[in-house]
Amino acid sequence: MRQLIAGNWKMNTTTASAAALAAALREGVVGCDMLVCPPATQLVAVAAALAGSPVMVGGQDCHGSPCGAHTGDIAASMLADAGATWVILGHSERRAEHHETDAVVRAKVLAAQGAGLRPIVCVGESAAERSEGHHEAVVGAQLVGSLPSSFDGVVAYEPIWAIGSGRSATAADVEAMHAFIRTELVQLFGARGGEMRVLYGGSVKPDNAVSLMALPDVGGALVGGASLVAADFLAIARAAGG
Ligand code: PEP
Repeated sequence: MRQLIAGNWKMNTTTASAAALAAALREGVVGCDMLVCPPATQLVAVAAALAGSPVMVGGQDCHGSPCGAHTGDIAASMLADAGATWVILGHSERRAEHHETDAVVRAKVLAAQGAGLRPIVCVGESAAERSEGHHEAVVGAQLVGSLPSSFDGVVAYEPIWAIGSGRSATAADVEAMHAFIRTELVQLFGARGGEMRVLYGGSVKPDNAVSLMALPDVGGALVGGASLVAADFLAIARAAGG
């Protein structure tokens, strides 16, 4: 399975710095699938900078409705109109800061797919949930609650305690959780669930990418901090595919 390396730029970059970062990635295209998810206001500039290159562009969130009175929100069709072909949904920062439930994430998945976007749905447990031994139950419930039966996208396993902390999950933890997620996906979707990519996210850096990307059932990475430095993001992409 070809791996996907996705960069989540979060609330960083200006139009100029986003276009420059995109241009630097364009120069270093590698042998895996690559995706960058800039802030919504930078989508048009980044899509233009990457036009004709295999590096794909995505949003970081969308609303669960196709249009309407939702001040400050962005519809999936607007992301598509700006050049996005993917969207990250249910990131733990959105689940925590915007109180997004699994039902909300599920509605967003349906809206995204309705607009022709491929969703990356994030799941993952907190440090307390892991230390209490509830990590599989938490992730299992997120999968069941967030993924509609028509789901046609990618799952990203992102333990909350590993995001932005510099402390990646251990190989054993990643391997065990990805095996668990695979079993759940097959239970939910049958053979289709056996083919879905499952990304790992949480402090992926050039120095741990080779070992993380070599683990069984790791279909790529969702990268935060390191995706803001072109050389680091490209090094991670090289670890995955080329
Ligand atoms: C993320 O927020 O999706 C993420 C994985 O961040 P970082 O790589 O900085 O841990």
